[in-house]
Amino acid sequence: MYDDETVERALALSAQGIPHDEVARICGVYEGSVRHWRRQGRRSDILVDPRRTCPRCSGRPLDHSTYSYLLGLYLGDGHIAHHRRRVLRLTIACCDGWPGLIEEAAKAISVVMPTSSVGRLQRTGCTIVNSYSKHWACLFPQHGPGMKHTRKIALEAWQEEIVSEFTREFVRGLIHPDGSRSTNRVRRPCKDGDRWYEYPRYFSTNTSADIRRLFTDALDSLKIDWKQANERNISIAKREAVARLDEFVGPKY
Ligand SMILES: [Zn+2]
Repeated sequence: MYDDETVERALALSAQGIPHDEVARICGVYEGSVRHWRRQGRRSDILVDPRRTCPRCSGRPLDHSTYSYLLGLYLGDGHIAHHRRRVLRLTIACCDGWPGLIEEAAKAISVVMPTSSVGRLQRTGCTIVNSYSKHWACLFPQHGPGMKHTRKIALEAWQEEIVSEFTREFVRGLIHPDGSRSTNRVRRPCKDGDRWYEYPRYFSTNTSADIRRLFTDALDSLKIDWKQANERNISIAKREAVARLDEFVGPKY
């Protein structure tokens, strides 16, 4: 038996046209269950009731783990802009070199806002994943005029609560769009000639000091060592710190 929240989420995703097997995978349920719920139309009221579109305004259940990841993506490289009337457009820029990230961003958006469809726009070298809703600012109250680094970015209490429970997902979201895992090469002169050492490290770039602080606070709470590489960059290079991040961030793919 699954709880109502899972059923509602599966139905909402399914109503968007996402195939049953995909919905089953996202929600961690059997494909047969998704088909069954669709047939029964169980709790199908959420599919037609627009008042239930927003977790903040109408108390629709919010998947905290996915939200924490999407919050990281949004703060890392997302934008919210006014579209028309009161509709807002959320965009996450994903580099084409990492198709897995594009898929994951699209999935995260559809889980957090299942009543809006997710679009993709091809741009040179990157894909813009986007979604329209009147409620993006409810979910991301950090939305405001101007670039993120020109204004103060602070989490609200309810967001802090989610991030403190799902810190790994938040860090993963922040590293995914604008950070990278790469191999650093260093040369050490030795008696019998130079030796090269290679080690993997994570690198995260953000122009907003507030967002860098949210990132390093999250790393601190996970007890992962980091250092400020230069003004905009945070580097995680210690072997055990890289190993910890590999557990839940992993190389981009
Ligand atoms: Zn709302």
